Amino acid sequence: MLNDPFTNAQKQIDAVAKHLKIDKSTLTKLKTPDRVLKADLKIKLDNGKVQTFKAFRSEHNNARGPYKGGIRYHFNVSKSEVKALSTWMTWKCATVGIPFGGAKGGIIVDPKILSQGELERLSRAYMRAFYKYFGAWKDVPAPDVNTGGAEMSWMLDEYEKLVGHQEPGMITGKPLELYGSQGRTEATGLGGFYVLEQLRQIWKDRILPKNTTIAVQGIGNVGYWFIEFAKKAGYQVVAWSNSKGGEYKREKITNEELLELPVDILVPAALENVITKDNAGKVKAKYILEMANGPVTPEADEILHKKGIVSLPDVLCNAGGVTVSYFEWAQNNAGYYWTKADVFAKLKAIMDQSFKAVWQIYTSKKVNPRLAAYILAVDRVVQAMRLRGR
Ligand code: GLU
Repeated sequence: MLNDPFTNAQKQIDAVAKHLKIDKSTLTKLKTPDRVLKADLKIKLDNGKVQTFKAFRSEHNNARGPYKGGIRYHFNVSKSEVKALSTWMTWKCATVGIPFGGAKGGIIVDPKILSQGELERLSRAYMRAFYKYFGAWKDVPAPDVNTGGAEMSWMLDEYEKLVGHQEPGMITGKPLELYGSQGRTEATGLGGFYVLEQLRQIWKDRILPKNTTIAVQGIGNVGYWFIEFAKKAGYQVVAWSNSKGGEYKREKITNEELLELPVDILVPAALENVITKDNAGKVKAKYILEMANGPVTPEADEILHKKGIVSLPDVLCNAGGVTVSYFEWAQNNAGYYWTKADVFAKLKAIMDQSFKAVWQIYTSKKVNPRLAAYILAVDRVVQAMRLRGR
């Protein structure tokens, strides 16, 4: 399949293996999720008919901690996609050094055509199908594309009914009223903004907010908050889009056109595989901040790198979300809650430190930025596997 996400994820592991000492069996393990769960969720629609939805949960690796990663509701969800996304979660948690492995789940559904009641029944059905595998010290889901606090609340409630005790740390991205963390909503966008600020520190003369133009593809929760923080700091957000299309200087543009705009910074914040070998040559931005998961394919990575475009990877740029999920989990397990200022300060410390670690490898090894992050992340995972004797 063209641009099959899991094939891309495996190619990336092969690329990083050339830079690390990894034996063959470890490499095979890294390229294969530990477990891929599948279920048919049957729910009653409002019109009384029963409909079946395909659902998945891929648990990639838990050497560094419980499996961690969101659940997305989208008609393009596939087994290959959740396997790739679960692999990327392992690298993401390791890049920012938080104590989790990687997982991802999804349901093949267009949630926009379901009622609230149908969405609730679907979310509860998902939990009923997989609850045995979830738990604060086993596998901790969270929101992803088209899911949020409401779905997390239903899932937590269903889980607690099934296991017979309260366990808020089994899922993150919950509303504040139900053991959520301050700052979780803004976290992914804010984390990306902290990365941008680190870039500015390095290139003080080249990035001046008021002279720096930004185009953002996707204004879901992630893109929206990134834009808010960037604008507040004085950056010029000149283009944005949603799934239907976008705007540039008050002109209508398509999502494809947005990627080729003459801006300084391009921020793909929607879905995977939008910058490929076919359009990478046409990208005019100097920097790319990957706020979506997997928006740049491995072939495109190399083209961008050769063109001198600095494309900062998803495992760094969008790690703010899972980092504040980690804070939420820690607060839940301790039963002690922090202020928003505390959360933001702790997030900034982790993002800054992770950026510096990736940047150091990028400049010293002269590899593309994704490979630099992977060298850091995969090595951390392999060390944990070794210590466990796996
Ligand atoms: N879905 C988000 C991601 O891809 C957040 C995952 C989480 O908080 O566990 O990073």
